[in-house]
Amino acid sequence: MIKKKQMRFYGIRDLSKIPQLKKIPKDDLFAIKVVSHVLPFRTNNYVVEELIDWDNIPNDPMFQLTFPQKGMIEDEHFNLMADLLKKKTSKEEIQAAVNKIRLSLNPHPAGQMTANVPVLEEDDEPVRGVQHKYRETALVFPSAGQTCHAYCTFCFRWAQFVGMTDLKFATDESSRFQKYLKQHKEISNVLFTGGDPMVMTLKKLEVFLTPFLKPEFEHIRNIRIGTKSAAYWPYKFVTDDEADGVLRLFEKLVKGGKHVAIMGHYNHWVELSTPIAREAVKRIQSTGAVIRSQSPIVKHVNDDPAIWRRMWKDQVSQGIIPYYMFVERDTGAKNYFEIPLYQAYNIFRDAYKTVSGLGRTVRGPSMSALPGKVIIEGVTEIYGEKVFILNFLQGRNPDWVKRPFFAKYDEKATWLNQLKPAFGKKEFFYKDELKKILEDRAAKDKHLFNEKEELDDEHLAAGAA
Ligand code: SF4
Repeated sequence: MIKKKQMRFYGIRDLSKIPQLKKIPKDDLFAIKVVSHVLPFRTNNYVVEELIDWDNIPNDPMFQLTFPQKGMIEDEHFNLMADLLKKKTSKEEIQAAVNKIRLSLNPHPAGQMTANVPVLEEDDEPVRGVQHKYRETALVFPSAGQTCHAYCTFCFRWAQFVGMTDLKFATDESSRFQKYLKQHKEISNVLFTGGDPMVMTLKKLEVFLTPFLKPEFEHIRNIRIGTKSAAYWPYKFVTDDEADGVLRLFEKLVKGGKHVAIMGHYNHWVELSTPIAREAVKRIQSTGAVIRSQSPIVKHVNDDPAIWRRMWKDQVSQGIIPYYMFVERDTGAKNYFEIPLYQAYNIFRDAYKTVSGLGRTVRGPSMSALPGKVIIEGVTEIYGEKVFILNFLQGRNPDWVKRPFFAKYDEKATWLNQLKPAFGKKEFFYKDELKKILEDRAAKDKHLFNEKEELDDEHLAAGAA
């Protein structure tokens, strides 16, 4: 029998209220405090009580995923912050130091701020809260869904969680984004993302989702919802007051002819192992919605093929479709979590080759970079040169998809922009076209391109970003 749990969030000011943290040495606790001044921190009582193995601290993967660690910021920054906090410096001085450190952590990677925001035909004004990077898919960022059940410090939304962005993306409940979607019949997929849209109340969810049942949205066939809720607050679907209502909403969309895909952020098989997590999965599936899983590969959490193998196997047996292994982006606590691309590929391959065909729905390791979603297909040797075989899963130009291209093998590279074309080529095949696409966009949306980040030569070096 699953008992109802009342959600309790813990933020930076609540560290002393987490009884389990009393077990850890004082210096380690102070380090958590120091780093959580810079990077986002938020967790809840379910994660603390049921997912973290407190007998395995600090190595427990859920602990690493949840609590900021000393190595996540540079020593110099850590020491500066530690001094300021020990000296009980003024709030203003601490905030100034924090801001400076945050800006050094690439808070807006891959043109997130500007490159994909569309405009409405009738007034030529941007549609805030929508990104339209690939022809058939639009991303919607509801304003009420800008927080998340987890605050992963590698998340490319971390800057938003600490209030660095003015929620430029966040759409409100106005009909602007709906108008845009009505005008663009080529869009068949809408991805609700955030943060985590499932932090929204049922009423808000209905405001965003039920309009898609109207005939003018017939072209929107698939509704995806990116969420950590099934992993970090499964009670949302089981015992919370609105649980049944949320399920009825999914059911209504499915009965109305929509494919509802819950894009579950699962980083480790532990998140699927509790009775409540399993029950949440079953209840979501009972509505006709499908759960697909995605996760970045990150050091200290899941940089081991055995973890992925078990996670994919457990997912398949629970009816979840393994979907993506991502490479975490060049932002936030990247230095702490990053692993070289060749290693990510080896881990993917070692896990992939041991799961059955049902688990081989997963794609990866994949980088969501400025030109598109680029996957590492393999490592091989061609005419004596060792190379990475790369491929676009999605491209700003759909014609780039499934055109293999080659980069020099490099054991240090951790992101696409560090790779160089193989076979003596100067640029990757898409570079000129990408530049033109971005320039056209900049000409059209001058008011959006005031940061020049995407057109920067350095950014486009080697055709990647
Ligand atoms: S669960 Fe996903 S969206 Fe939420 S913070 Fe982590 S990576 Fe970001």
